[in-house]
Amino acid sequence: MSEFPITESMDSAASEVLRSVFGYAAFRGHQADIVARVASGGDALVLMPTGGGKSLCYQVPAILRQQAGHGVTIVVSPLIALMHDQVGALQELGVAAAFLNSSQDMQEAQEVERALVASELTLLYVAPERLATPRMLALLDRVHARGRLSLFAIDEAHCVSQWGHDFRPEYRSLLGVCQRYAQVPRMGLTATADAITREDMVRQLGLDHAQAFVSSFDRPNIRYTIVEKRDAMAQLLRFIDHEHRDDSGHDCGIVYCQSRRRVEEVAEQLQRHGLNALPYHAGLAADTRRAHQDQFLREEQMIMVATIAFGMGIDKPNVRFVAHLDMPKNMEGYYQETGRCARDGEPGNAWMTYGLQDVVNQRRMIDDSPAADAYKQVMRDKLDALLAMAESATCRRVRILAYFGEDSQACGNCDNCLNPPAQFDATESARKLLSCIYRVQQASGLAFGAGHLMDILRGKRTEKVVQHQHDQLSTFGIGADTSEVQWRALMRQLIAREAIRVDATQFNTLHLDHAARAILKGQSEVWLKHSERVSKRQAQRSTADTQLSDPQAQAIYEALKTWRAQVAKEHGLPAYLIFHDATLKAMAQDPPQTSGDLHRINGMGEKKREAYGSAVLRVVHATLG
Ligand code: ADP
Ligand code: ZN
Repeated sequence: MSEFPITESMDSAASEVLRSVFGYAAFRGHQADIVARVASGGDALVLMPTGGGKSLCYQVPAILRQQAGHGVTIVVSPLIALMHDQVGALQELGVAAAFLNSSQDMQEAQEVERALVASELTLLYVAPERLATPRMLALLDRVHARGRLSLFAIDEAHCVSQWGHDFRPEYRSLLGVCQRYAQVPRMGLTATADAITREDMVRQLGLDHAQAFVSSFDRPNIRYTIVEKRDAMAQLLRFIDHEHRDDSGHDCGIVYCQSRRRVEEVAEQLQRHGLNALPYHAGLAADTRRAHQDQFLREEQMIMVATIAFGMGIDKPNVRFVAHLDMPKNMEGYYQETGRCARDGEPGNAWMTYGLQDVVNQRRMIDDSPAADAYKQVMRDKLDALLAMAESATCRRVRILAYFGEDSQACGNCDNCLNPPAQFDATESARKLLSCIYRVQQASGLAFGAGHLMDILRGKRTEKVVQHQHDQLSTFGIGADTSEVQWRALMRQLIAREAIRVDATQFNTLHLDHAARAILKGQSEVWLKHSERVSKRQAQRSTADTQLSDPQAQAIYEALKTWRAQVAKEHGLPAYLIFHDATLKAMAQDPPQTSGDLHRINGMGEKKREAYGSAVLRVVHATLG
């Protein structure tokens, strides 16, 4: 192994690269330790939340190791969009980076291959299925033979695990590649992994000697809110209007829906409501998908309505909200999707509506899948963790972090913390519901769905009730005082607790499950939230983008944004690849007057200073008058 000791001079070399190339003043969290470990030839496993700054963890070592004569770093990444973005950003910074993927024509690919063999590259991004091809391996063999294969960085490393939520079979070929170049240092990076997925990554990627760096998964700037689904569309519009829209327009956001059809509908309704929205799902033509994605990346005010086909590798930093109109499959999915909001560290909203039907649908999808039973059980447990979080009356964040093995205190930035819901003891109602399910089944030898059971409990003589003589049951009408909304909430909770099982193979009928017994026997309590919150939360915009406190700063900020939009258009790049909002804000708040002043702006590396420094100064001077 090309291990060389971690020295002070290397630490300072790393800081120098961070400053001069990326324009950042200091490493964050574990970055410095990870960079030191990897730059010195050690293996690493990096678990860091989205927006935590994983890219720098391999980009800085790649530059350092290239400078030290070790050659090229191979970055394995599953998504083409991500590669384009990252390579574009690196080239903007003056780093020799390239990618190889199916979007290129033969000539482009050959030019990249030539640069690889000629040792001209610092970073090469490759899709996993491409890496294991004979052609690619032959190229790598040549590079390796000359000692110029420096590092493998495997991004989204959880994709290798079938216990993860994102299994990609093509990741399985990576172990073979790693074994072929056993002496080359490697690192795995992911934003989400529970204990079994983590073990799997270590085994499947040969990371036995890797030092693990586990960051806190907390995203304190994201506010979690989960509301009961009534009229999801109306609820969504109200949410956007209240929190993400003002006279000057609306924020950038993502709305996730379960089905393609729903995506189309919702996008259309948002458009009709005057919002700049586009659909994205796997059923659209590849060209359309690409165009919509590009538009999302480039435009400041854009809402993408999408299935989960959209998002992996999307690192637009100023997505201000992620809304779920349907519940994700599990906690990892929820965490990952909501994690796409507010990567810039400014406030953002993760907002979800969910209802009984979501619970039923998700359970059914697991039950209906052709997977092995053991796998289904793991998926059920993962879904249950999410359900329990959604049903919880206490801090959401505490629940989310606990799932990833972290202890924490009530956060003060989720709906339950900001507006503690009043709870009431619903044990009695739960027992009525459970015994109703039991009696109906006994009396008619048949099971029934939620709607019919509610009719019985609420004492409604519907045709079906009369036909089955369910108005004769002792449970008929015993729950007339409880509203339908409350019955639904109760059913959700009892399903989440496995007191009720939904049989999807028989028209979503409800059956008693193993946890019913303790509730019926009075050994276990059921508490419900009042469906109306005690105090109405003040509509509070979390928008980071709006106003700076000082009018002069605001004027400079606006002027810089206009300038940036122009440059972005000329270069055909998303605006944030020119400068992040945070960098523009820093300049607006403490305007640089001379080129010397540009050095203290966070986010202004050497290349950017060269390319844009004088233009920035012109804009500032013009605004200051
Ligand atoms: P991840 O891949 O972990 O989701 P990224 O690598 O995309 O996160 O980083 C998220 C954002 O934080 C990026 O805009 C990046 O430029 C910025 N960033 C990362 N590290 C630092 C740092 N040390 N100082 C300032 N900004 C940073
Ligand atoms: Zn909280």
